[in-house]
Amino acid sequence: MPDADRESRCRRCGQPVRIYRDSYEVFERMHYVCFHYEFEHDVSNPDADPDEDCGDPGCPSAPAARQKDRMAAAVRQLIEEWADGPPANWDNHSLPDYLGALAGWLDDCEGYYAGRGVPIPWNGWEVMRAAFRAATVYE
Ligand SMILES: [Zn+2]
Ligand SMILES: [Zn+2]
Repeated sequence: MPDADRESRCRRCGQPVRIYRDSYEVFERMHYVCFHYEFEHDVSNPDADPDEDCGDPGCPSAPAARQKDRMAAAVRQLIEEWADGPPANWDNHSLPDYLGALAGWLDDCEGYYAGRGVPIPWNGWEVMRAAFRAATVYE
């Protein structure tokens, strides 16, 4: 194993730190999420549930609850765009075309994120929101 890998293992969970490697020291040699659950997540409450949003803006447990609502809003936005018929800026104007594009985009989403130089979001809601939007024009 290269030295670089050995140096950036999380001291809380032992797994390699990759995504926030540049912030390894800032997060006290932990993953961002491990740091949060160790030091920030409702630390004054001994019965705190790690799956529950602790209210911290960066809480990794927050998106699961909040992003469902954002997803529903994103879908409603798509419906609204159809209010006057097929939107001119959409390439896919039938449900089979749209769903085909959705599946195709998901198949290729690694490339989409790699092309932007960012990791695939760990939060599936975020990927699905991007997919529903991208499928309007993806071919
Ligand atoms: Zn960790
Ligand atoms: Zn939290």
